Amino acid sequence: MIKNQYFQAILLHGATGLGVWETLDNAAATLLCESPIPAMTSGPIPLPGSAQHACGQCPACRLRQAGNHPDLKRLLPEALALELGMAQAVDPQDATRTEKRGPGKDIPIDAVRGLIDWSHTTNHRGGLKVAMIYPLETLGIPAANSLLKVLEEPPPNLYFLTGTHRLDRVLPTLRSRCRLETMSRPSAAEALRALQLREIEQPELVAHWCHHAVHEPDPAGGMHWARSLLQAAIAGLGSRSASTATPTPLMPVAVAALQKLCIDMMRTQCRQQPLYLPLDQPALGRLASIASVPRLLDFWRRLGDYSRTASFPLHANLTTEALVLEFRQLFTRSAH
Ligand SMILES: [Zn+2]
Repeated sequence: MIKNQYFQAILLHGATGLGVWETLDNAAATLLCESPIPAMTSGPIPLPGSAQHACGQCPACRLRQAGNHPDLKRLLPEALALELGMAQAVDPQDATRTEKRGPGKDIPIDAVRGLIDWSHTTNHRGGLKVAMIYPLETLGIPAANSLLKVLEEPPPNLYFLTGTHRLDRVLPTLRSRCRLETMSRPSAAEALRALQLREIEQPELVAHWCHHAVHEPDPAGGMHWARSLLQAAIAGLGSRSASTATPTPLMPVAVAALQKLCIDMMRTQCRQQPLYLPLDQPALGRLASIASVPRLLDFWRRLGDYSRTASFPLHANLTTEALVLEFRQLFTRSAH
């Protein structure tokens, strides 16, 4: 028999850029709204309240928008809260620590203890209470253990909305106490609409480039650079000196862009449509016909190793330059 708790604790899982946080935040808004509006279509994920959306006008909505709703608790690592523009979610104690060590990347156990105390208080506005924890894998083992009991026997009217991009890193004990929901990629039309709403330039190109992960902070990141690298590689087929005028992005973005170029060339070699740069198929096809399959595969594998360490590399600029040089050398017949 399914116990009630499985409807009170949700774990939403999806790739980065698909909008896991945004979906949870919308669900929290609807649950707390005091005059929710029926939705034209129910949301993609059967979260509580997904048949409605928040009005944005009522006192509860205004409190939430100001970050002051007493029945809403958001637990995020400090670094992420700052990135999402929610400095008010940062505990003053954390802020003191930050001065010494930089913003935290985990949810501290003190924050979980605060959440547990809060979960036992009566709700302030007579409706539901919502606790958001994201990403769930940033809870350390002691913090997760202290959360387990309240997840097992949640107080009535309290919802836990949690999310992750790395389900494999969520502790099994936490996972087993939540109802798991998975986010799929939006359709081409939905992706285009979302990018247009964000006023992203060249939305058709960007929709392919981000593979419909339209909630990435910068879904077009590295696209212009990658396209200019392609053009430079084509121009350089006759000479060694062709270079690109587009500034090189930061290393994580550059590595991801090179990975996308490699995947598209490998797809072209297998007579498949490019996934990320379909408009550049002629250039990709021409270069892919020159690059040897094993060398391309080897380069792509090593980019994967770099992508796991690309956030804080030593000598990031030098490494990126070396990778670009290596990319160009894939197309020099003599280097084979
Ligand atoms: Zn409202």
